[in-house]
Amino acid sequence: MSEKPEKLIDKKGLRLDGRKPDELRPIKIEVGVLSNADGSAYIEHGKNKILAAAFGPREMHPKHLTLPDRMVLRCRYHMAPFSVQERKSPAPSRREIELSKVIREALEPAVFVEYYPRTGVDIFIEVLQADGGTRCASITAAALALADAGIPMRDLVAACAAGKVGDTVVLDLMDTEDKVGSADVPVAIMPNLNAVTLLQMDGILTFEEFERAVDLAIEGCKKIYAVQKEALKARYMAVKQEEEVEE
Ligand code: UDP
Repeated sequence: MSEKPEKLIDKKGLRLDGRKPDELRPIKIEVGVLSNADGSAYIEHGKNKILAAAFGPREMHPKHLTLPDRMVLRCRYHMAPFSVQERKSPAPSRREIELSKVIREALEPAVFVEYYPRTGVDIFIEVLQADGGTRCASITAAALALADAGIPMRDLVAACAAGKVGDTVVLDLMDTEDKVGSADVPVAIMPNLNAVTLLQMDGILTFEEFERAVDLAIEGCKKIYAVQKEALKARYMAVKQEEEVEE
């Protein structure tokens, strides 16, 4: 394990990786990266590297889980054994089961589930490399995988955390800040609808700090939303070009 750093914020007010308190890590997103999935996306959010794949709408297995009036959304968040410094067992952990649930619940409000009764959509999330904030990066990628699969949605979902390191409220905590810091507040929003779909808090904040953290996280989500839209547009341009070549 890495050594515990003495100071998370230096004299200039900069963080361990040189970021300002309200600065996001660099984000790169590519949509449509897996040919065997109906929709897919790959995200690099700081040192996090995550793949999301969406399948469906399709017949549910096992069949008894089918609902007569809506589609069932299922989600599996999984960390590769090599994704963290200390080997992670490939078997689903309690944490992965919880994250699968909160990620599904963060995405579900964006999907018109009533359009596809008696079907299911599966989302698989594979964390290849983790560095704090993987649930948020997973939501950001999975929303794009759903859109890439052509599933009708009210909006994309963009996610980002804020938290507290030392005495400072900061945006987008990386692993060391998450572990050594005193609070982490992951937030997901549907930016066009101005609606929150995920809000969690790990640690202790005053009411003012909590408000500041949520405001920062929402600003972060809006910036991530812009990157999502660019990635989706790039995917459509690539598909359009492929079709023009075929014609
Ligand atoms: N982590 C780890 N080993 C594990 C699970 C998590 O080293 O078995 C690290 C990983 O970098 C992850 C971070 O701890 O991103 C924070 O995990 P948390 O449960 O807070 O979820 P996240 O911030 O990734 O959404």
